[in-house]
Amino acid sequence: MSYDVEKPDEQWRKELAPAEYAVLREAATEPAFTGEYTDTKTEGVYSCRACGAELFTSTTKFESHCGWPSFFDPKDTDAVELIEDRSHGMVRTEVRCARCGSHLGHVFKGEGYPTPTDQRYCINSISLRLEPERG
Ligand SMILES: [Zn+2]
Repeated sequence: MSYDVEKPDEQWRKELAPAEYAVLREAATEPAFTGEYTDTKTEGVYSCRACGAELFTSTTKFESHCGWPSFFDPKDTDAVELIEDRSHGMVRTEVRCARCGSHLGHVFKGEGYPTPTDQRYCINSISLRLEPERG
């Protein structure tokens, strides 16, 4: 798999803070209820913190009470890449930025949330950067 934005590992290490690097490039998960966007209701666009690609918008963010920012749909279907993840003894679907391949979180289906897609994109705050809408 090749991405539009590819950088050597040492470059990512320079550009990202250690906690950002751990999640975006090593697929770590930030602790629940600690991320800066968990309960954010500000309107705007959430971009990839590694490459700036627009990934999610506030219009599909919903309150899942799971401890991480949750969206029922990406901004564009091809903004994210979905990959089967069999780590930690579970089968999950990993969500990555389609432009730079950085880890964002996981997507879960069929949990019964009252959203149009019945999907929950469970995304680390630290993988995102919110651009508030000017208005
Ligand atoms: Zn990216």
